[in-house]
Amino acid sequence: EGDSTKPVTEQKDKLLGGLLSAGFDEESCRSRYESALYRTTSPHKPSTHLLDRLRSYEALHKRCGPYTESYNKTVEKLRSGHAIEPTDCNYLVWVAFSGLGNRILTLASAFLYALLTNRVLLVDRGKDMADLFCEPFPEMSWLLPLDFPLNQFNSYDQKFPQCYGNMVKKKILNKPKTSLPPFMYLHLVHDYDDHDKLFFCDQDQALLQKVPWLIMKTDNYFAPSLFLIHSFEEELSNLFPNKGTVFHHLGRYLFHPSNPVWGLITRYYQAYLANADERLGIQVRVFDTGAGPFQHVLDQILACALKEKLLPEVNKREPVLYPTGDRKSKAVLLTSLSAGYSDNIRDMYWEYPAVNGEVISVYQPSHEEYQQTEKKNHNRKALAEMYLLSLTDKLITSSWSTFGYVAQSLGGLTPWILTKPENKTVPDPPCFRDMSMEPCFHAPPFYDCKAKTGTDTGAIVPHVRHCADMSWGLKLV
Ligand code: GDP
Repeated sequence: EGDSTKPVTEQKDKLLGGLLSAGFDEESCRSRYESALYRTTSPHKPSTHLLDRLRSYEALHKRCGPYTESYNKTVEKLRSGHAIEPTDCNYLVWVAFSGLGNRILTLASAFLYALLTNRVLLVDRGKDMADLFCEPFPEMSWLLPLDFPLNQFNSYDQKFPQCYGNMVKKKILNKPKTSLPPFMYLHLVHDYDDHDKLFFCDQDQALLQKVPWLIMKTDNYFAPSLFLIHSFEEELSNLFPNKGTVFHHLGRYLFHPSNPVWGLITRYYQAYLANADERLGIQVRVFDTGAGPFQHVLDQILACALKEKLLPEVNKREPVLYPTGDRKSKAVLLTSLSAGYSDNIRDMYWEYPAVNGEVISVYQPSHEEYQQTEKKNHNRKALAEMYLLSLTDKLITSSWSTFGYVAQSLGGLTPWILTKPENKTVPDPPCFRDMSMEPCFHAPPFYDCKAKTGTDTGAIVPHVRHCADMSWGLKLV
């Protein structure tokens, strides 16, 4: 926790070890430099190579961003639909798609891909990207201009004529002397097929490199598979000598909550979390159908927290009274669409004394009941809650949830993961410790591009492994 009485300017690490560039207007985005007040300094230092590349990316973005001379020139080519000569600015358009946790992970993956391929990342604002986040790059917007000639992104799918996988399937690109179109669409959504997945092959990257505009739609954290593309390997290991910190650094670099969201975060933190001796986050995401709360999920959360000694047992036999005075306090921040779990845990520590005398308080910021991806206040709260979870000292997350992944990697926390329950019973063990703080790539390719056969991509290099919460997923460790 930071010392919130000190002015921001006195904070030693407000630039997060050089990750952030100075010189932004602090008032327009308070979270950018104030986050250091709420977080302990990360033990993971960004590499100097990453810092150099971020600064050179910022220069590229400024030179090529919206309405610059280069931008206008290439957009003109896009409008004319003519074949293209190489240009000095190439672009990657990220399409807003899926839940907020998913969007945050895909945007970080897209930025990493842009860094690796010297492209300028432009962000389709969707319903609320501009409302939720500050601009991350100095002096030039990352938002795709509203008058950009392509915009019906909802209709972009696998069958789209400029979809890369589709073009490969139809052998359009094999014909000698075919000129490349000025833009291509990359379909990296979980339902993608073997042709779309060729994106993860060196040969295909060599071709894509020649296309000035790439439009990308994805709902997956695909960074782990970039580490298996030979031509990116060396640069990636220079950028991230510690491979399990990719989202940790890129997330802290890119995602600064806008002032309204920062208000939600800081007011909540100061009111309920700041004064506790320790903070425990519990992220509850139930993928079962039907309205929660579910008894087996509540039982599982408690079984996990007690077994791992994240929360104390209670004494249900004797009404012990502890002496007043200096007792350790622990604040539990529980997030869930349903209110039932935190109500129950709060009651338990009210009705019975904790055996170690700890003072346990339980807070839940919202209970939105169901996912409402298109609503502004709903998504502001969702972001605030992910961020608040990232400010805790220890974290329990739910299997398969990108909401939890964002919290854990922003916070630099290796979580305890609640085992995915089957048949509405408490799994044994109720939870287990993850291998790293990195998010899991849920739909990775299993293809050996050279041998042109299937392969286990989780067994090729030691730093890309199968996830603990999803056996076929891949994650960086
Ligand atoms: P995932 O589905 O768990 O991978 O996470 P996503 O963030 O992609 O999608 C889930 C969406 O449901 C969130 O973006 C929120 O809109 C909503 N949601 C799920 N859990 C919570 C929660 O604990 N609090 C709030 N406020 N919203 C939640």
